Amino acid sequence: MQLDWLLQPLLSQLNSGVLVLDAELRLVFINQFIARRADVQPEDVQGKSLFDVFTDVPQAWLQRKLQGVLALQVPAFSSWEQRQYIFKLPHLRPLSSDSQYMAQNCSMLPLTAPDGVSRYICLLIEDATDAYVYQQQLQQSVARLQLANRTDGLTGVLNRSYWQQQLSYEIQRAERYQHPLSLLMFDLDKFKQLNDRYGHLGGDAVLVALCARVTTLLRDTDLLGRYGGEEFGVILPETDLTGAMQVAQRICTAVAGQPMHYEQQTIRASVSLGVAAFTAGQSTDALIQQADEALYTAKRQGRNQAVAWRAVNNEYLKKVK
Ligand code: GH3
Ligand code: MG
Ligand code: MG
Repeated sequence: MQLDWLLQPLLSQLNSGVLVLDAELRLVFINQFIARRADVQPEDVQGKSLFDVFTDVPQAWLQRKLQGVLALQVPAFSSWEQRQYIFKLPHLRPLSSDSQYMAQNCSMLPLTAPDGVSRYICLLIEDATDAYVYQQQLQQSVARLQLANRTDGLTGVLNRSYWQQQLSYEIQRAERYQHPLSLLMFDLDKFKQLNDRYGHLGGDAVLVALCARVTTLLRDTDLLGRYGGEEFGVILPETDLTGAMQVAQRICTAVAGQPMHYEQQTIRASVSLGVAAFTAGQSTDALIQQADEALYTAKRQGRNQAVAWRAVNNEYLKKVK
Protein backbone atom coordinates (compact mmCIF):
# COMPACT_ATOMS: atom_id res chain seq x y z
CA MET A 1 0.00 0.00 0.00
CA GLN A 2 1.31 3.45 -0.93
CA LEU A 3 1.32 5.60 2.25
CA ASP A 4 2.86 8.89 1.08
CA TRP A 5 -0.49 10.70 1.18
CA LEU A 6 -0.77 9.71 4.86
CA LEU A 7 2.81 10.13 6.03
CA GLN A 8 3.49 13.66 4.76
CA PRO A 9 0.58 15.40 6.52
CA LEU A 10 1.09 13.21 9.57
CA LEU A 11 4.75 14.15 9.91
CA SER A 12 4.12 17.82 9.27
CA GLN A 13 1.30 18.01 11.84
CA LEU A 14 2.95 15.84 14.45
CA ASN A 15 3.49 17.58 17.77
CA SER A 16 6.95 16.03 18.10
CA GLY A 17 10.15 16.62 16.21
CA VAL A 18 11.30 14.13 13.59
CA LEU A 19 14.77 14.20 12.01
CA VAL A 20 16.12 11.48 9.73
CA LEU A 21 19.88 11.15 9.26
CA ASP A 22 21.87 9.00 6.89
CA ALA A 23 24.84 6.90 7.98
CA GLU A 24 27.16 9.94 7.58
CA LEU A 25 24.89 11.89 9.94
CA ARG A 26 23.62 14.15 7.15
CA LEU A 27 20.06 15.41 7.32
CA VAL A 28 17.68 13.54 5.06
CA PHE A 29 14.47 14.92 6.51
CA ILE A 30 13.19 17.25 9.22
CA ASN A 31 9.52 17.82 9.92
CA GLN A 32 7.68 21.11 10.45
CA PHE A 33 7.92 20.89 14.23
CA ILE A 34 11.72 21.12 14.03
CA ALA A 35 11.88 23.47 11.02
CA ARG A 36 9.56 26.04 12.62
CA ARG A 37 11.36 26.11 15.96
CA ALA A 38 14.87 26.03 14.52
CA ASP A 39 13.82 28.64 11.94
CA VAL A 40 15.13 26.69 8.93
CA GLN A 41 13.54 25.47 5.69
CA PRO A 42 13.51 21.66 5.32
CA GLU A 43 14.73 21.88 1.71
CA ASP A 44 17.66 24.16 2.68
CA VAL A 45 19.12 21.73 5.19
CA GLN A 46 18.70 18.51 3.23
CA GLY A 47 22.03 16.75 2.64
CA LYS A 48 23.87 18.94 5.15
CA SER A 49 25.67 17.55 8.17
CA LEU A 50 23.55 17.57 11.31
CA PHE A 51 26.34 19.39 13.15
CA ASP A 52 26.65 22.11 10.49
CA VAL A 53 22.96 22.95 10.75
CA PHE A 54 22.56 22.53 14.51
CA THR A 55 25.85 23.96 15.69
CA ASP A 56 24.81 24.06 19.38
CA VAL A 57 24.23 20.33 19.90
CA PRO A 58 26.69 18.47 22.18
CA GLN A 59 28.57 17.03 19.19
CA ALA A 60 31.03 14.57 20.74
CA TRP A 61 28.37 13.01 22.97
CA LEU A 62 25.67 12.84 20.29
CA GLN A 63 28.08 11.48 17.67
CA ARG A 64 29.08 8.66 19.99
CA LYS A 65 25.43 7.84 20.71
CA LEU A 66 24.42 7.86 17.03
CA GLN A 67 27.40 5.79 15.99
CA GLY A 68 26.36 3.25 18.61
CA VAL A 69 22.83 3.11 17.16
CA LEU A 70 24.24 2.57 13.64
CA ALA A 71 26.76 -0.05 14.69
CA LEU A 72 24.53 -2.07 17.00
CA GLN A 73 21.21 -1.40 15.25
CA VAL A 74 19.46 -0.88 18.55
CA PRO A 75 17.58 2.23 19.67
CA ALA A 76 19.05 4.70 22.17
CA PHE A 77 17.27 7.17 24.40
CA SER A 78 18.13 10.41 26.14
CA SER A 79 15.72 11.83 28.72
CA TRP A 80 15.41 15.45 29.81
CA GLU A 81 16.37 14.36 33.31
CA GLN A 82 19.81 13.23 32.10
CA ARG A 83 20.31 16.02 29.58
CA GLN A 84 17.77 18.83 29.64
CA TYR A 85 17.92 19.36 25.89
CA ILE A 86 19.92 18.29 22.85
CA PHE A 87 18.67 20.87 20.36
CA LYS A 88 18.44 24.49 21.47
CA LEU A 89 14.81 25.03 20.51
CA PRO A 90 12.46 27.59 22.09
CA HIS A 91 9.64 26.11 24.16
CA LEU A 92 6.76 28.36 22.99
CA ARG A 93 5.00 28.06 26.32
CA PRO A 94 3.70 30.94 28.40
CA LEU A 95 5.03 29.13 31.47
CA SER A 96 7.49 30.69 33.80
CA SER A 97 10.65 28.64 33.60
CA ASP A 98 14.28 29.45 34.26
CA SER A 99 15.19 27.94 30.92
CA GLN A 100 14.23 29.41 27.57
CA TYR A 101 14.90 26.09 25.80
CA MET A 102 12.54 23.19 25.32
CA ALA A 103 13.30 20.25 27.62
CA GLN A 104 13.46 17.12 25.45
CA ASN A 105 13.15 13.38 25.42
CA CYS A 106 14.97 12.04 22.42
CA SER A 107 14.64 8.55 20.92
CA MET A 108 17.23 7.49 18.36
CA LEU A 109 15.87 4.72 16.19
CA PRO A 110 17.83 2.66 13.64
CA LEU A 111 16.20 2.37 10.18
CA THR A 112 17.16 0.27 7.18
CA ALA A 113 16.03 1.26 3.66
CA PRO A 114 14.04 -1.25 1.55
CA ASP A 115 17.30 -2.09 -0.29
CA GLY A 116 18.34 -3.80 2.96
CA VAL A 117 21.71 -2.00 2.93
CA SER A 118 21.34 1.74 3.47
CA ARG A 119 21.21 2.65 7.12
CA TYR A 120 19.46 5.66 8.63
CA ILE A 121 18.61 7.00 12.05
CA CYS A 122 15.35 8.62 13.04
CA LEU A 123 15.54 11.12 15.91
CA LEU A 124 12.23 11.57 17.65
CA ILE A 125 12.11 14.70 19.82
CA GLU A 126 9.36 15.04 22.42
CA ASP A 127 8.73 18.28 24.26
CA ALA A 128 9.15 17.59 28.01
CA THR A 129 9.06 21.22 29.16
CA ASP A 130 5.92 20.71 31.27
CA ALA A 131 7.54 17.89 33.23
CA TYR A 132 10.71 19.96 33.63
CA VAL A 133 8.78 22.99 34.94
CA TYR A 134 6.71 20.87 37.35
CA GLN A 135 9.84 19.22 38.66
CA GLN A 136 11.44 22.61 39.23
CA GLN A 137 8.37 23.90 41.05
CA LEU A 138 8.39 20.77 43.19
CA GLN A 139 12.07 21.21 44.02
CA GLN A 140 11.46 24.85 44.96
CA SER A 141 8.56 23.85 47.23
CA VAL A 142 10.67 21.18 48.89
CA ALA A 143 13.48 23.70 49.45
CA ARG A 144 11.00 26.20 50.94
CA LEU A 145 9.55 23.53 53.23
CA GLN A 146 12.99 22.38 54.26
CA LEU A 147 13.93 25.95 55.17
CA ALA A 148 10.70 26.45 57.12
CA ASN A 149 11.35 23.19 58.92
CA ARG A 150 14.81 24.31 59.98
CA THR A 151 14.30 27.92 60.94
CA ASP A 152 12.58 29.83 63.69
CA GLY A 153 9.53 31.71 62.40
CA LEU A 154 10.19 34.94 64.31
CA THR A 155 13.93 35.48 64.04
CA GLY A 156 14.86 33.42 60.98
CA VAL A 157 17.76 31.72 62.81
CA LEU A 158 17.90 27.91 63.12
CA ASN A 159 15.19 26.38 65.27
CA ARG A 160 16.05 24.33 68.31
CA SER A 161 15.67 20.85 66.87
CA TYR A 162 17.68 21.54 63.73
CA TRP A 163 20.31 23.49 65.65
CA GLN A 164 20.73 20.67 68.15
CA GLN A 165 20.99 18.17 65.30
CA GLN A 166 23.76 20.31 63.79
CA LEU A 167 25.52 20.42 67.16
CA SER A 168 25.54 16.62 67.34
CA TYR A 169 26.91 16.50 63.83
CA GLU A 170 29.67 19.04 64.63
CA ILE A 171 30.55 17.12 67.80
CA GLN A 172 31.00 13.93 65.77
CA ARG A 173 33.19 15.81 63.33
CA ALA A 174 35.30 17.40 66.06
CA GLU A 175 35.68 14.00 67.73
CA ARG A 176 36.68 12.20 64.54
CA TYR A 177 39.19 14.78 63.29
CA GLN A 178 40.27 16.00 66.75
CA HIS A 179 39.42 19.56 65.79
CA PRO A 180 38.43 22.25 68.29
CA LEU A 181 34.74 23.10 68.71
CA SER A 182 33.10 25.54 71.10
CA LEU A 183 29.58 26.33 72.17
CA LEU A 184 28.23 29.70 73.19
CA MET A 185 24.83 30.19 74.84
CA PHE A 186 23.38 33.63 75.49
CA ASP A 187 20.22 34.97 77.05
CA LEU A 188 18.70 38.46 77.12
CA ASP A 189 18.99 40.19 80.48
CA LYS A 190 15.80 41.17 82.31
CA PHE A 191 13.75 40.48 79.25
CA LYS A 192 10.58 40.17 81.28
CA GLN A 193 10.95 43.81 82.32
CA LEU A 194 11.64 44.78 78.73
CA ASN A 195 8.44 43.02 77.62
CA ASP A 196 6.49 44.75 80.40
CA ARG A 197 7.79 48.14 79.35
CA TYR A 198 7.57 47.91 75.55
CA GLY A 199 4.95 45.22 75.12
CA HIS A 200 5.31 41.73 73.69
CA LEU A 201 5.70 43.10 70.16
CA GLY A 202 8.49 45.38 71.34
CA GLY A 203 10.14 42.31 72.88
CA ASP A 204 9.73 40.44 69.59
CA ALA A 205 11.36 43.30 67.70
CA VAL A 206 14.33 43.12 70.08
CA LEU A 207 14.69 39.38 69.44
CA VAL A 208 14.69 39.97 65.68
CA ALA A 209 17.18 42.87 65.89
CA LEU A 210 19.39 40.89 68.28
CA CYS A 211 19.66 37.95 65.88
CA ALA A 212 20.37 40.23 62.94
CA ARG A 213 23.14 41.94 64.90
CA VAL A 214 24.71 38.73 66.19
CA THR A 215 24.65 37.19 62.69
CA THR A 216 26.88 40.01 61.40
CA LEU A 217 29.47 39.12 64.06
CA LEU A 218 29.76 35.44 63.12
CA ARG A 219 31.57 33.48 60.44
CA ASP A 220 29.59 31.70 57.73
CA THR A 221 30.34 28.35 59.33
CA ASP A 222 29.08 29.37 62.79
CA LEU A 223 25.53 28.23 63.53
CA LEU A 224 23.14 30.49 65.41
CA GLY A 225 19.97 28.88 66.74
CA ARG A 226 17.07 29.78 69.03
CA TYR A 227 17.32 27.46 71.99
CA GLY A 228 14.33 28.74 73.94
CA GLY A 229 12.23 31.90 74.31
CA GLU A 230 15.03 34.47 74.63
CA GLU A 231 17.96 32.11 74.85
CA PHE A 232 20.17 31.41 71.85
CA GLY A 233 23.11 29.16 71.03
CA VAL A 234 26.02 29.53 68.65
CA ILE A 235 28.00 26.51 67.48
CA LEU A 236 31.56 27.59 66.71
CA PRO A 237 33.36 24.92 64.67
CA GLU A 238 37.17 25.03 64.50
CA THR A 239 37.20 27.38 67.49
CA ASP A 240 38.92 26.86 70.85
CA LEU A 241 37.84 28.39 74.17
CA THR A 242 39.97 31.51 73.73
CA GLY A 243 38.52 32.17 70.27
CA ALA A 244 34.99 31.50 71.51
CA MET A 245 35.45 33.95 74.40
CA GLN A 246 36.53 36.61 71.90
CA VAL A 247 33.31 36.03 69.93
CA ALA A 248 31.30 36.16 73.18
CA GLN A 249 32.90 39.46 74.21
CA ARG A 250 32.23 40.88 70.78
CA ILE A 251 28.53 39.93 71.00
CA CYS A 252 28.25 41.28 74.54
CA THR A 253 29.75 44.64 73.56
CA ALA A 254 27.76 44.90 70.33
CA VAL A 255 24.41 44.29 72.05
CA ALA A 256 24.96 46.62 75.02
CA GLY A 257 26.83 49.22 73.00
CA GLN A 258 24.07 50.16 70.58
CA PRO A 259 20.39 50.54 71.40
CA MET A 260 17.69 48.94 69.25
CA HIS A 261 14.70 50.70 67.79
CA TYR A 262 11.03 49.86 67.87
CA GLU A 263 8.31 52.25 66.78
CA GLN A 264 10.39 55.38 67.38
CA GLN A 265 11.40 54.09 70.77
CA THR A 266 14.98 53.41 71.76
CA ILE A 267 15.41 50.14 73.59
CA ARG A 268 18.56 49.28 75.49
CA ALA A 269 19.24 45.60 75.92
CA SER A 270 22.09 43.40 77.08
CA VAL A 271 22.92 39.72 77.07
CA SER A 272 24.75 37.32 79.36
CA LEU A 273 26.86 34.66 77.70
CA GLY A 274 28.30 31.29 78.65
CA VAL A 275 31.03 29.54 76.68
CA ALA A 276 32.28 25.94 76.78
CA ALA A 277 34.82 24.08 74.67
CA PHE A 278 34.18 20.53 73.53
CA THR A 279 36.34 17.84 75.10
CA ALA A 280 36.78 14.35 73.63
CA GLY A 281 34.04 11.92 74.52
CA GLN A 282 31.61 14.60 75.66
CA SER A 283 27.92 14.28 74.77
CA THR A 284 25.80 17.01 73.17
CA ASP A 285 23.79 17.44 76.34
CA ALA A 286 26.88 17.65 78.54
CA LEU A 287 28.37 20.39 76.37
CA ILE A 288 25.11 22.37 76.39
CA GLN A 289 24.93 21.99 80.14
CA GLN A 290 28.44 23.37 80.61
CA ALA A 291 27.72 26.42 78.45
CA ASP A 292 24.44 26.89 80.33
CA GLU A 293 26.19 26.69 83.69
CA ALA A 294 28.65 29.36 82.54
CA LEU A 295 25.70 31.47 81.36
CA TYR A 296 24.06 31.10 84.75
CA THR A 297 27.29 32.27 86.42
CA ALA A 298 27.34 35.32 84.11
CA LYS A 299 23.79 36.11 85.28
CA ARG A 300 24.74 35.65 88.92
CA GLN A 301 27.79 37.85 88.59
CA GLY A 302 25.67 40.78 87.42
CA ARG A 303 24.67 40.07 83.77
CA ASN A 304 25.95 41.83 80.58
CA GLN A 305 29.11 39.71 80.56
CA ALA A 306 30.65 36.54 79.14
CA VAL A 307 31.92 33.64 81.26
CA ALA A 308 33.88 30.61 80.12
CA TRP A 309 33.01 27.27 81.65
CA ARG A 310 36.60 26.52 82.57
CA ALA A 311 36.61 29.69 84.68
CA VAL A 312 33.42 28.49 86.36
CA ASN A 313 35.11 25.21 87.02
CA ASN A 314 38.21 26.87 88.50
CA GLU A 315 36.06 29.08 90.62
CA TYR A 316 34.26 25.98 91.86
CA LEU A 317 37.58 24.27 92.56
CA LYS A 318 38.82 27.33 94.44
CA LYS A 319 35.72 27.27 96.58
CA VAL A 320 36.15 23.58 97.29
CA LYS A 321 39.74 24.19 98.41
P1 GH3 B 1 17.25 37.14 83.19
O1 GH3 B 1 18.14 38.33 83.08
O2 GH3 B 1 17.50 36.40 84.46
O3 GH3 B 1 17.35 36.26 82.03
O4 GH3 B 1 15.79 37.71 83.28
P2 GH3 B 1 14.62 37.50 82.28
O5 GH3 B 1 13.51 38.40 82.65
O6 GH3 B 1 15.13 37.68 80.90
O7 GH3 B 1 14.31 35.96 82.44
P3 GH3 B 1 13.05 35.10 82.45
O8 GH3 B 1 13.48 33.76 81.95
O9 GH3 B 1 12.42 35.15 83.79
O10 GH3 B 1 12.06 35.74 81.40
C1 GH3 B 1 12.15 35.52 80.05
C2 GH3 B 1 11.03 36.22 79.42
O11 GH3 B 1 11.12 36.13 77.98
C3 GH3 B 1 9.68 35.67 79.77
C4 GH3 B 1 8.97 35.45 78.47
O12 GH3 B 1 7.68 35.99 78.47
C5 GH3 B 1 9.82 36.20 77.47
N1 GH3 B 1 9.76 35.60 76.14
C6 GH3 B 1 10.05 34.34 75.78
N2 GH3 B 1 9.85 34.16 74.45
C7 GH3 B 1 9.46 35.34 73.94
C8 GH3 B 1 9.10 35.81 72.63
O13 GH3 B 1 9.13 35.07 71.63
N3 GH3 B 1 8.75 37.10 72.51
C9 GH3 B 1 8.71 37.94 73.57
N4 GH3 B 1 8.38 39.20 73.36
N5 GH3 B 1 9.02 37.53 74.81
C10 GH3 B 1 9.39 36.26 75.02
MG1 MG C 1 16.55 36.31 80.14
MG1 MG D 1 15.79 32.78 79.62
